[in-house]
Amino acid sequence: MNHDSLITLSDIYKARKGITSIVGRTPLVEAPWLSQLTGAQVFFKLENLQVTGSFKIRGAANRLLNLPQAARERGVITVSSGNHGRAVSHVAGKLGIPVVVCLSDAVPANKREAIGELGAEVVVVGKTYDEAAEGAARLQEEHGLTMIHPFDDPLVISGQGTIGLELLEDFPEIDTLIAPLSGGGLLSGIALTLKSADPTIQVIGVSMERGPAMVESLRAGKVVDIVEEPTLADALAGGIGPENLYTFDMIQKYMDDAILVSEEEIAGAMAFALHKHHLVVEGGGAVGIAALLYEKVERFGQNIAIVISGGNVDLPVLVNIARDYQTTWK
Ligand SMILES: *Cc1c(COP(=O)(O)O)cnc(C)c1O
Repeated sequence: MNHDSLITLSDIYKARKGITSIVGRTPLVEAPWLSQLTGAQVFFKLENLQVTGSFKIRGAANRLLNLPQAARERGVITVSSGNHGRAVSHVAGKLGIPVVVCLSDAVPANKREAIGELGAEVVVVGKTYDEAAEGAARLQEEHGLTMIHPFDDPLVISGQGTIGLELLEDFPEIDTLIAPLSGGGLLSGIALTLKSADPTIQVIGVSMERGPAMVESLRAGKVVDIVEEPTLADALAGGIGPENLYTFDMIQKYMDDAILVSEEEIAGAMAFALHKHHLVVEGGGAVGIAALLYEKVERFGQNIAIVISGGNVDLPVLVNIARDYQTTWK
């Protein structure tokens, strides 16, 4: 069954109507250095400025606002590489919903602490995202909680898709979208929105070379397991789920090109964002910049938006990168 047809543009508008009291509209800013480099007009969509430091608050808000009262009272559980857990904890806190967040050992300390501060019960299970996901599934059954999936859920995808509405309003000339790609909730939501308005808009997903689960799965034509490796783009770590229902089909249908970037390129892009734009961007949020900055995008139009998806980087990590990578871009 083709599940993606279940989500339509009207779901994205419905999502926006619901979430505006919780989720901010983010700025679209010019990126003159990248414009000069590419000869196109380049803009950044600054989701790193969301109150939880990433776009994940959009999907989390839409999902939790649509939860029936009885399920709200029983509580929710989620698994996360960090940012989704923080978003769910933030929204659940506002709505008075008890929340358990399962994280693997690999989630950076800054992300773990931020989730704890929001009043969530944090459970650290396993060494990888996929192991944490198994732990979460067990706890969910034991305690009768509702699972808030980080990407493979129509309400989560629709929430992320509201970025696409803001892009169409603030940048109607947009012909190319570049966004980070992990489980694919972000890219499928935005792509559905943009391509509904104009199917010729080009959609480019960017993942890290170290463990790009969606890209490997697309190549194989089915969901494949990947080995999770340490990466600066920790927000993009993890598999796409053995029983993927939505995002695999949607990415297959909507994404025009996929690009992989190296750890060096991610670091260079984080340093570039800080030095040139005074923006704190985490590794997973910087991959779109990396793709353009290191000239890895072969086909693009004249009006490019790059989604800067998050800013939750451990500050000592960013400080080291800022010192070491000042001169690596032209
Ligand atoms: C979750 C996340 C992504 C990837 O989103 P998917 O919907 O899993 O593809 C990208 N950047 C940041 C900062 C994230 O937290």
